Amino acid sequence: MAVAIRSDKEIERIRDAGRIVARVLNEIKKQAAPGVTTAQLAELSDNIIADAGAIALFKGVPNPAAKFDFPASICASFNEQVVHGIPSERKLVAGDVISIDCGAKLKGYCGDAAVTIAVGTIEPELQRLLQVTEEVLAIALAKSAPGVYWSQVARAMQKHAEDAGFGVVRDYVGHGIGRHMHEDPKVPNFVSSELRANDLLLRKGMVLAIEPMVNMGTWRVKVLKDGWTVVTADGKPSAHFEHTVAITNDGAQALTVAD
Ligand code: MG
Ligand code: MG
Repeated sequence: MAVAIRSDKEIERIRDAGRIVARVLNEIKKQAAPGVTTAQLAELSDNIIADAGAIALFKGVPNPAAKFDFPASICASFNEQVVHGIPSERKLVAGDVISIDCGAKLKGYCGDAAVTIAVGTIEPELQRLLQVTEEVLAIALAKSAPGVYWSQVARAMQKHAEDAGFGVVRDYVGHGIGRHMHEDPKVPNFVSSELRANDLLLRKGMVLAIEPMVNMGTWRVKVLKDGWTVVTADGKPSAHFEHTVAITNDGAQALTVAD
């Protein structure tokens, strides 16, 4: 497993791409109100990415299990949908949670981030799910540093989610990112047997997309007939928070943040 080590200059390029992704997510947070469709949110994303002179990374991603390439610049996953939901004419309703994932490429470098947004007022238990998932990402950032094994980070992430009574998705994980959206290594949010056998020692210059997916119930998921949309096996809600993160001598630094 060859994990790229990025120069400070390359990390700045990734940050430039990440800034655009952050702009998309912040704008969608402002616009995500009852009555708005996820197609409208996708159009907003298209425009921000195009205006920045960037490329929408998700649009056209192939999938052998689906009959079509991914059609939009964001994934929009409602409630029990975990990831890879397809924007549509479905309207947001108060009480929904919607996970928005976005990726953009600028001058050859990529950024990738996600956030779960509450639409109007949501149930307290759902609010707790969002808070805990965001905390899981914050824990990963706090613990990641040169010389730390990823399994130490993943163990803390998994523990925080499971102590809250939630399930950590196993079938989808984070990833290296840089020149391409998906690069080595795999970055699981739990301690997998694969990770135990081949742990990742974090080093300065690694850039990882860290993205906990946490379910209110079981960690098990399934894929809908469209071949894309991943849903929880028990139909309970799910949350997803992601940053593109650089490992620096001062610890981990999120690159998908707005100015
Ligand atoms: Mg993403
Ligand atoms: Mg990602």
